[in-house]
Amino acid sequence: MNQPLTDPLRIIDREEHGIDRCQVSANACKVTEQLQAAGYHAFIVGGGVRDLLLDQAPKDFDVATDATPDEVVKVFRRARLIGRRFRIVHVRFGREVIEVATFRSEPRPEQRDHDRGRLLTDNVFGTEAEDARRRDFTINALMYDPSTETVRDHVDGYRDVVERRLRLIGHPVTRYREDPVRLLRAVRFLVKLDLSLEPDTAGPIVGMAPLLANIPPARLFDETLKLFLGGHAWETFQALVRFRLWEQLFPAAMADPDDPPPLVRQALINTDARVAENKPVTPGFLFAALLWPQVQTLARQLIADGVPPVDALGRAGEAALSEQARHVAIPRRFGAMSKEIWCFQPRFERRRGKRVLRLMRERRFRAAYDFLLLRAAEQPELAELAEWWTRIQEVDEAQRQRMIHGKGKGRGKDKRREGQSDVRAGARA
Ligand code: ATP
Ligand code: MG
Repeated sequence: MNQPLTDPLRIIDREEHGIDRCQVSANACKVTEQLQAAGYHAFIVGGGVRDLLLDQAPKDFDVATDATPDEVVKVFRRARLIGRRFRIVHVRFGREVIEVATFRSEPRPEQRDHDRGRLLTDNVFGTEAEDARRRDFTINALMYDPSTETVRDHVDGYRDVVERRLRLIGHPVTRYREDPVRLLRAVRFLVKLDLSLEPDTAGPIVGMAPLLANIPPARLFDETLKLFLGGHAWETFQALVRFRLWEQLFPAAMADPDDPPPLVRQALINTDARVAENKPVTPGFLFAALLWPQVQTLARQLIADGVPPVDALGRAGEAALSEQARHVAIPRRFGAMSKEIWCFQPRFERRRGKRVLRLMRERRFRAAYDFLLLRAAEQPELAELAEWWTRIQEVDEAQRQRMIHGKGKGRGKDKRREGQSDVRAGARA
């Protein structure tokens, strides 16, 4: 293929890289081969290739080609032009979608924001080599050609794969300035792939972290989900704190992120366990936990001023969420769920009568109960309450009736507790 003489393209063959064709999505292979049959260059690129080389299960496979989006659409029947940040083509095979993007060039001067060096667009088509070099990390720029079973390396990324090292392509300060989200991506890949961080790539992170303030909160939300729902939330949190990136994302969430409250730590560890078991994780619950220290502090002040606990949590939650929206835009449906979880907490303290059964039928009962368990792990005085709510879900109907109506043991204690919020009790502590 016509590579310029100056291009240090290295081609790694099957024996060396070890990727077996059947590890690659058959549909992604089909897309590259059909494009090649139509006379274009086309390769599988990005995270899928990287993950195979690092013995991880790839999430998806993307294709890069020298065909323009309009040309790609003509090659496939089930192709659709998508135009968000740049024009790409989705080729659909049942439930699998293969994303096809045209090679793009390195940024031209007019594409930069003159003040900050930030990239405004990256829409200019380019060559295969340029497309490799405009990517973020060397390990993300490797291309796999299924028809020859070779890996094509324009950025000396294969060496970094073998040595398990994360390195930005080009000059790190320039590359972070072009797109500060790369700071977050560095931490995400570092933790997820268990890599070492090349010193020049690591060096500028702490100092450049404040550049995240210029990124639209909606984009930071997408990135935050990838950071916390990828199965390594706890380790990622610690790395974000270490690199001073956490405080850019959630500046007010907790007083001392270097020493996070046990509830936050446990919530992140539980999230990872659920991801490992393929159980669903809901962002609403995650944000409820991350923002709880702040919400709790605000609510305690309101309660001390005489606001009833449920209202206080509602107002505190609202305040925390709207402050948070300036940094990471949590979509309304998730924020609403967090708020429901917070406001549910004082209601667990009332354990008499039919309202217990009504509570158990509420939509957010399960999530709120899980949250109560988290709080109990942090506040021993809540252990008995949490156990009671665990028990009432396990026992039969007759026993359940005894628990909510029964006389005898526990009643006096319960009466004393009624209406006395532990959030308020916390205010005195
Ligand atoms: P994941 O496993 O999270 O999907 P990924 O590397 O595939 O990881 P994507 O966000 O899907 O990440 O991006 C696909 C590819 O596009 C990357 O591998 C990289 O080559 C390129 N890329 C993505 N984001 C950037 C960026 N901010 N700057 C430069 N290149 C990027
Ligand atoms: Mg990807």
